[in-house]
Amino acid sequence: MELEKLLKKHFGHSSFKPGQKEVISSILAGNHTLAMLPTGTGKSLCYQFPGNLLDGTILIVSPLLSLMQDQVEQMMKIGEKRVIALNSFLTVDVKKDALRNLGKYKYIFISPEMLNVSYIIQRLQGLSICLFVVDEAHCISQWGYDFRPDYLKLGEIREQLGNPLTLALTATATKQVREDILHSLGISEVERVESSVDRPNIGIFIEKCEDYREKQNRLIELVSTLKGPGIIYFSSKKVAEQMAALLREKGFNVMAYHSGLDQEQRILIQQQFIYGQLDVICATSAFGMGVNKENIRFIIHFHMPLQIESYLQEIGRAGRDGKPSIAILLYTSGDEQLPTQLVEGELPTDQQIDWLFTWLHHNGQTEILNLDSSLKNIGGFSDIQWRFIDEFCSQLFRNHTSLEKSCEVIKEYVSNRLVVKKSNISRVKKWIEINECRRDFLLSHFDESIGRNIPNCCDICQIEWSLFMAKEKNGSPIEKSEKWKDYLAQILLSELEK
Ligand code: ADP
Ligand code: MG
Repeated sequence: MELEKLLKKHFGHSSFKPGQKEVISSILAGNHTLAMLPTGTGKSLCYQFPGNLLDGTILIVSPLLSLMQDQVEQMMKIGEKRVIALNSFLTVDVKKDALRNLGKYKYIFISPEMLNVSYIIQRLQGLSICLFVVDEAHCISQWGYDFRPDYLKLGEIREQLGNPLTLALTATATKQVREDILHSLGISEVERVESSVDRPNIGIFIEKCEDYREKQNRLIELVSTLKGPGIIYFSSKKVAEQMAALLREKGFNVMAYHSGLDQEQRILIQQQFIYGQLDVICATSAFGMGVNKENIRFIIHFHMPLQIESYLQEIGRAGRDGKPSIAILLYTSGDEQLPTQLVEGELPTDQQIDWLFTWLHHNGQTEILNLDSSLKNIGGFSDIQWRFIDEFCSQLFRNHTSLEKSCEVIKEYVSNRLVVKKSNISRVKKWIEINECRRDFLLSHFDESIGRNIPNCCDICQIEWSLFMAKEKNGSPIEKSEKWKDYLAQILLSELEK
């Protein structure tokens, strides 16, 4: 049967979205495939569809529990019941039962952490895996923006599963990251389906603010005048909460969303936003992956993004319906300090690493496999630092690396990671400072160029503000902001004259 007919029959869609058919055909032809398609273009279909034609199990490695849950529900909705997500949401009994009867599932979603459990690998080895899917595959790469150590082992796991046919999916990976993905997975021959990362219906605007207060006022002004709904991204949970409260005071329907909220609250807020009960979400980067909302009209960044890739992912949540949307970054000189502190705080310091290994040495712990978790507090490790060091040490100890060597390896790794992360920040800073087309610079990061005239491209090219405004149709917000500055200057002058 023609692929289009099968699409209609199984999924109810009348045509493929760009790239889907190429990816599916490549998989059906038995080629390992790397697909880089923008967020929202229906990458999930690229592994759901072949499930109707290939014999065996489709194993999907997915980075987020909520994302997996979402996919399972979506598949259930279209009548596919042979699907399960192996994660911590399952009760012990259900998990036991599922693992005993894995063969009855056509689609198995799993986190990279779970894939590391040897019992689970053994169970999976008993299946015939017709497709091994790595969703959000950029997480594999040390150059990827959201590095996850467990992803590094996927190559090894793939080998243990008999090197099955593989599909790597990502939305925003630089050339270097794409090569890194293939290398880590141990794939040499691959079919590539890569589309542009550009989203021409999203205008890109950087606005410089004098200081924090001005930025805050500008944010309120933007939320009051821009067409919604919108997302405001923050790098700090606290500031996201504060601004959400401030905007609520001004009468907007706003909630904050970040990893500090419990799972239920997060799901509730996400649903409220999706169903139009909220105008704006004040979010950290925890929000957005897998959120299917077509009509998001603006994305504001209150803090400086940590890297170009995540910035592009975040603004890409706007305008899925193809209508004009705007991405605004508010920048105040010195804003790069926060991302720098954040990346430094994610990794253990040299002093912490030295302390840990000295402690292990003095306490004769040379033959251990895992670190004692009480060392976390004694050594003053944050959750994220501890997860990193704990993971790293267990890998090294399992390979019988000596304490001295392990200490050296970890320190070197941390220092390399810091170089990468800091250079990512510098790149964003450079982008803020240039006087050339913003879009072209973003695209060049992915070895692309703009190639044509895009209306409402960026603040350097040209933006027709009225397109994005809901209330104040006359006068650009820039003018307004200038007027506001004049007003402030007047007040200051009159104060001085008193
Ligand atoms: P991605 O992973 O690329 O961000 P998803 O797989 O989550 O995107 O799909 C986004 C949305 O697009 C889903 O709601 C899905 O049902 C829809 N979709 C996928 N393929 C098609 C198609 N061919 N026609 C219409 N809608 C589609
Ligand atoms: Mg996806």
